[in-house]
Amino acid sequence: MKLLEERIRKDGKIKGGDVLKVDSFLNHQMDVELFARMGEEWARLYAGEGVNKILTIEASGIGIACVAAQAFRVPVVFAKKSKTKNIAGDVYTAQVESFTQGKRPYPIFVSKEFLHPGERVLLIDDFLANGNAALGAIELIDQAGAQLAGMGFIIEKAFQQGGGILRDRGIHIESLAMIDS
Ligand code: 5GP
Repeated sequence: MKLLEERIRKDGKIKGGDVLKVDSFLNHQMDVELFARMGEEWARLYAGEGVNKILTIEASGIGIACVAAQAFRVPVVFAKKSKTKNIAGDVYTAQVESFTQGKRPYPIFVSKEFLHPGERVLLIDDFLANGNAALGAIELIDQAGAQLAGMGFIIEKAFQQGGGILRDRGIHIESLAMIDS
């Protein structure tokens, strides 16, 4: 997506070799006009997929997932990283190896109330790097007996392994910008 690529070139900053910082429009301050364009783009790209729920992981996916959900006119569920009292009770859960938090694995949870058998779920997230967050989300969807309709990422770092792993599984992936190196 040209608009996004231009924005990354203009405002993105490289940190520590393989981390891209896009805090000025995505991960801290958020450009919701740009988010709206991205949501519309995914709605076009997944038009035939029968998406009826969007799933993301807190915290960085929530903003973009909500805006995308307006374009799809479907509800959003975000996986929580801690099992607070609010979601005490029956949950689906998986472990995710963190890319940005020193590689310490963390659990993710979704209440069984909010993912159901037969639902067509689109995962939306900010970055695709090694694919661990995405694999964790797949586990939640599988536990629920729901179907994965696809995965939309704002930025895919094509020099890391996630894209290959997920495409080998036949998943419909739409990354709106690819970083080669
Ligand atoms: P993965 O699980 O695919 O290895 O990493 C995905 C998660 O790590 C994303 O949800 C994102 O929060 C974070 N992440 C991975 N690479 C980057 C990066 O280059 N920049 C930022 N800001 N976050 C990243």
